[in-house]
Amino acid sequence: MAPEKQPQRKKIESTGQMMKIMSDYFYDLNDAAKSDRRKVAWCTSVGPAELLRAMGFAVHFPENHAAMLGATRMATELIPEANTIGYSPDICSYLTADIGAYLKGSSPLAKAYPGIEGPPKPDVLVYNTNQCRDVQDWFSWYARELDVPCIGITSPKNHTDVSDTLIEDVTCQIEALIPTLEEITGEKLDPQKLRETVALSRECTELWRQVLETAAATPAPLTFFDGTIHMGPAVVLRGTQQAVDYYQQLLAELKQRISDQVAAVEGERHRIYWEGMPVWGRLRQHSELFSELQASVLVSTYCSSWVFPDFDAEQPIRSMAKAYLGLFIVRSDAYKEEYIKQMLEKFHIDGIIYHDAKTCPCNSNSRYGMPQRLEQETGIPSLVISGDLNDLRCVSDEQTRTNVEAFIEQLEER
Ligand code: SF4
Repeated sequence: MAPEKQPQRKKIESTGQMMKIMSDYFYDLNDAAKSDRRKVAWCTSVGPAELLRAMGFAVHFPENHAAMLGATRMATELIPEANTIGYSPDICSYLTADIGAYLKGSSPLAKAYPGIEGPPKPDVLVYNTNQCRDVQDWFSWYARELDVPCIGITSPKNHTDVSDTLIEDVTCQIEALIPTLEEITGEKLDPQKLRETVALSRECTELWRQVLETAAATPAPLTFFDGTIHMGPAVVLRGTQQAVDYYQQLLAELKQRISDQVAAVEGERHRIYWEGMPVWGRLRQHSELFSELQASVLVSTYCSSWVFPDFDAEQPIRSMAKAYLGLFIVRSDAYKEEYIKQMLEKFHIDGIIYHDAKTCPCNSNSRYGMPQRLEQETGIPSLVISGDLNDLRCVSDEQTRTNVEAFIEQLEER
């Protein structure tokens, strides 16, 4: 049995700054929704945020709001509200929690930020189906409910290589969005502003990559659970100077931790890869569970999904298309397995946890034999835990603890 220890979690000092810029972001969105001068766009997490930002939209990301509903454990009681209007409990629990919250007039933003009642009312909804079809259904519901235009990109899927043909397809689809967006803002897209925004996104993503890669050090200075919190600016503020400044600060702190040999998990004995979505309502419990077992869950596909090396200010729209097509979730299993193998090596991983999220099949990679294939090729053992990103009715805490303890014991014996 692994040694019993009290949870030891090191607080990241930059967290205060991150909370400040996230707060500024939400108040700015709220102000934009109330003003006649600025328009609000809702965007999927890897939708054309660079284009929207360059055109002056304040950009809201419903997935971010849905994750907040999960993290505050509000989601589970709101999901049935969406079920009653025909959205199944088996589909994306981001979608059902967010629509449920709207129907109930409830939002974690109202609790966290005095003066904000909830998400800002949109002038346009812009999706990209690169991650799943649910985002289009989700935005289409709001389009009908709020009577606003809903436009987007229907992405190719399951490709191993990002070919020129695919890039052309998505480039044309992004370009086709521009006239509708110009009509809404009443202004022409400024190509220079777009180049600047893509350059800032590129800078943000590069810093975020370096932040995540600090975890290759032994001991790792940050965990996946830290990453799920600190990825906020990379998701909602990419294309802004604030995000760039923030990741410079965080990176400096983590480099200092490496120099000082500060471990995110004290006495790190095992290095774990997390594949799949977080269980938002159990971040703290999971973080403590692994810390107790001196296992550092230090890298994940999820947090790395906001690393887009393809952004190029010289070819802004084409490079956006390439970046959005390069996303892990939209790729074939052959690509995914190669990617994970490289990550296992780079981060010196000795065990993999797959989260099989009941309502997100697209981001659950344990259903078609991948764990077995990877274990056979790498010799690195894995554990599949059943759960969900937001619906805690699908999560068994007892079973998760028992299975994780047994898995770490197995690693200990190796
Ligand atoms: S990828 Fe999963 S969690 Fe994200 S919107 Fe799609 S179904 Fe929901």
